[in-house]
Amino acid sequence: MRIGYGWDSHEFKRGIPLKIGGVEIAHDKGLGGHSDGDVLLHAITDALLGALAAPDIGTLFSPSDARWKGADSAVFLLEALKRVKSAGYKIVNIDSTLILAAPKIGPHSAAIRASVSKLTGTPATCVGIKAKTPEGMGTDNAAIAHAVVLLERGSSPKSRKSNPKQRS
Ligand SMILES: [Zn+2]
Repeated sequence: MRIGYGWDSHEFKRGIPLKIGGVEIAHDKGLGGHSDGDVLLHAITDALLGALAAPDIGTLFSPSDARWKGADSAVFLLEALKRVKSAGYKIVNIDSTLILAAPKIGPHSAAIRASVSKLTGTPATCVGIKAKTPEGMGTDNAAIAHAVVLLERGSSPKSRKSNPKQRS
């Protein structure tokens, strides 16, 4: 088994859509960043990459690369999932905590959970989405996400041989 941990933060900016866990949430501000700023998908992506001891999201998808400008963060997550599969692992469960002052995540947590479940091919009963407000942290204009994943060996490690490029 392998455990992975990821952390990310983005600053709120006016005039851009807010996307968390692949779900667009109505709010007067969105998360700035080179891509769509999806703080939760970035933390989960880094957790998956970390579990494999692979390069992190910023190394694989450089913010200076024009290809990733405004990119849907699902692209990063799918690349990490491809690496998990080709290394012969599958996801056991994902847990996460969002820390943000606004908007309230409660009304959206079921949709975010369903989205992460679908994107990662993990049953919703194995996807944890928790949210807290940043009491005393002074980070009210940012969204922060922590994520952990547990991977276990799948039944067909043979797939590792079929795509040697993915192993580096
Ligand atoms: Zn990010």
